[in-house]
Formats: sequence, structure tokens, C-alpha cells
Amino acid sequence: MKSIWARLGWGKYLVYLYALIILSWLFDVNLFILILIIALVYGSVELFVFLYFKGGKFLAIKDGIDSHIQNCNDLNRHIEELKNSYFDFQNQSYGIAGMIDTSKYSFQRRELKKMHKSNQVYNCSLSICRNAANEPFKYLCKYFKIDINEDTLNKFGELLNNFSSAEEGKKILLKERKEILDSIENEIPRLIITYYKQRLIENLGFLQIDLSTSYFPTFTFQYVSSGGNSSMKSNIIFDIKNLNDFIQFINNKIDYINSSKGQRSLMTSILRTYIKERDKFMCRSCGNGIINEPNLLLEIDHIIPISRGGLTTLGNLQTLCWRCNRSKGSKIIV
Ligand SMILES: [Zn+2]
Repeated sequence: MKSIWARLGWGKYLVYLYALIILSWLFDVNLFILILIIALVYGSVELFVFLYFKGGKFLAIKDGIDSHIQNCNDLNRHIEELKNSYFDFQNQSYGIAGMIDTSKYSFQRRELKKMHKSNQVYNCSLSICRNAANEPFKYLCKYFKIDINEDTLNKFGELLNNFSSAEEGKKILLKERKEILDSIENEIPRLIITYYKQRLIENLGFLQIDLSTSYFPTFTFQYVSSGGNSSMKSNIIFDIKNLNDFIQFINNKIDYINSSKGQRSLMTSILRTYIKERDKFMCRSCGNGIINEPNLLLEIDHIIPISRGGLTTLGNLQTLCWRCNRSKGSKIIV
């Protein structure tokens, strides 16, 4: 819900003008002179800020932390790659859902554009729509033709693995950026830290961090009455919790069919935590760990990739730092 102030748009300037008229009347000053004084003060501040960001002192500070900023930006790009690790849920398309972005963040929205492709809509009767809301996973598999087998389990496991890293990465990235900013706080004028923080972040060269979670795939059951006057929608959003639950759901179904668990472990959030603890929160490739680098994003890697027949078993899983995992290969799930 947007605040009234945000909804006003250009109307804000009208409010400012009224405030000025009232001020000029209260203090018995000419309105024109009042506007002139305010414009002068505002202009001087803007000029100061503009010149500051061009000045040698600021550029020296920027140079001093350049490697940290580049590291942040690399992690930022890595997170964007992780978010893009979709796979084709099916060959048949059920149409494209219209999305309205109602979140309050005004960041870049690349995911939102891609999301139209991955979003699936199934037009159905009212009873299916209602049932889908009650038993989402069962109806999802049936109507969106998601097979209940090992392959599905692996794909959704990898999706959860990548999305979990992306979500953890976002938190780490924000923390890292804050620590970098804190480290130079005393060298930057108070005015800029307080009122021009966003511009400071941009001028230091940080990429925008996209905090929105709109990249999570969504499946929609939609009923529209023949007259078009009534409608109902059931959305299934594959966020971290739903992915965990869905993996458990598929696993239970397979066990029911096969009645043998074999060697399989389930790629869930619990397993991810277990593997990191087992590996003492250290990268098994470069040896770097959270003791040396507290804001290090650690990921879970299949030693033999799933695409080459590797299994989700304790022996085939290892902790890697995001840098080593990134250089190991692509995040595309086949
Ligand atoms: Zn490493």
C-alpha cells in the first residue's frame, strides 16, 4: 500500500507551493523572494554534492575500496545468475499471465520481464480452482503435467539449492555493502551520508541490488465465468518454503510408488545446513571459510553434477564458496 504522499505525484509540488504561500503570509515576506532564497539554498547544495562526487578527495576514497566494490558487484551478478536457473516445467504452454508489480522497491526489474515466460496459467472450472487452493501440489502435478519421478525431484532440488543461495546472497551482499560504507563514513561529509546516500552508492560504483522476490516461478489456476463477471484465482508460488514442501511431497509419492528409498537424500534447506556444518563452513576447494571472511556466501555443490548422473547423496555433496562454485560451471538445470 502506497502512502498518500507517494500517491500525490506531481500534486506534491502544489502542496509545497501552498506551504510557501502560507509561510510568506505568516512571516510577511514576499513570496517571490522566499522562493528565490529556497531555490538558491537548494541549488548550492546540489552544486556542492555534484562537485564533491567529481572531486579528487572522493575519487581517492573510491579507489581505496575499489576491490571491495568489485567483489560486491561480482557477487551481485552471481546472484542474478542463480535467480535465472529456471528449467522448462513442461513443453506445453498454458498461456501467459499478466503481472502487476505492486512491490515498493523501485529497482531494476529484469526478473519480472522473464517471469512472464515462466509463469503458467491454467484456465479451469470453479471446482478445480477451489480444489487447487486446498491441495495445491496434487493439482499442480496433475494439470501442469509435472511427472512424479526422480528427475523432477532432482530439478526442483537444484532450483531450491540455487534460489536459497540467491536469497542468502542478497542478505550477505547488503551486509557487506553496509560494512564498506561504514568503513568510509568518517571521510564522507555528513550531509551526503544523511541525505544523498543513494547517490553516494551509485557514485562509488555499486550495482543496484534487486531485493524483489518476483523471480520465484508462479503457477496459476484461473476460473472466469462465461459471462466474465466473476472470477477466481489460485496461485502457487515456488518460494523457498513451497519448494521445500514440494520436494517432500514428490519424495513421499515416489516412496509410495517404489517403496524403497535407496541412497537418496533430499535437497532441502535442512540438508543444505547439514552439509555446511559437516564441512565446518569452509570451501572444500579453496579452503576459505566464514572465519576468514564472515560475509562469504557458501553453496552446496554436487561433486558429480546431476546432469552427468550424480546423485543427491551425502558423499556426492560438498560446500563450495560462491567464487569456486561459479568458476566450476553454469547454473543451468537441464
Ligand atoms: Zn572456494
